[in-house]
Amino acid sequence: MHLHTRRRFLEVLGLGAAALSAAQKPEAARPPGGIMAIAAHPGDAFFAMGAPVALQTSLGAPGVFLSLSLGERGSASIPPERYGAMQREASQRAARMLAAQTAFLSWPDGEIPVNDEVKFAVADIIRQYKPAIVITHWNGSLHKDHKACHDIATDAIFYAGLPAIVRRNPAHAVSKTFYADNWEDADGFRADTYLDITPVFDRWQDACSAFPMWRGENGFRYNDYYRSRAIERGCLSQSKYAVALMSPSRQLVRRAKSL
Ligand SMILES: [Zn+2]
Repeated sequence: MHLHTRRRFLEVLGLGAAALSAAQKPEAARPPGGIMAIAAHPGDAFFAMGAPVALQTSLGAPGVFLSLSLGERGSASIPPERYGAMQREASQRAARMLAAQTAFLSWPDGEIPVNDEVKFAVADIIRQYKPAIVITHWNGSLHKDHKACHDIATDAIFYAGLPAIVRRNPAHAVSKTFYADNWEDADGFRADTYLDITPVFDRWQDACSAFPMWRGENGFRYNDYYRSRAIERGCLSQSKYAVALMSPSRQLVRRAKSL
């Protein structure tokens, strides 16, 4: 592509000349940040947030998938107790494939409460694993658990970082928060970071296939949606596969090879 055309393309995307020159410089050597996905349900953690976790772990950083519920009411044919166990088992298998860990809080699927008990429980897990980066739900969601998770994670990050709040583990400040591109959380979602996930795309897709609902068994074709989304985001950011993320600060659009 001619440079002129390339610049024009990036301008259309909102990636200005500054972003272009930054993207063309070799990235400064810095240790990759540990990352924690905080999701309402196990599927969200892996399908919408799993690729950035896979990327960071592939760079040598620790990764954790935290789910606030087991998503046990997600099947029309399998009883919740059994389905919850299947979801937990799938999460553990998928996390192993991505060299990450899992953590669970067992609030009832569909009834995740927004209160300080939940927020402190999440803050304690943040203090335990000490992630530099948290990725969670955007609150423009059609699912009440996702909106709840957004609010819980936001306050949990605040509680985790406040030294005056004395808990079992010392305070830990999360340095970056991102919101995931989730088909259920699309209202007002505005991408500002395009993360190139090409190196981990296949592994991430294999990990997602550990879940019983990945191929549309529950009525939504997650595999087709998230695969085609990664291709589309890749087209927009000049990589083969990418995921789009949103920052609380609504920063300028940028492309990244790590978080
Ligand atoms: Zn969900």
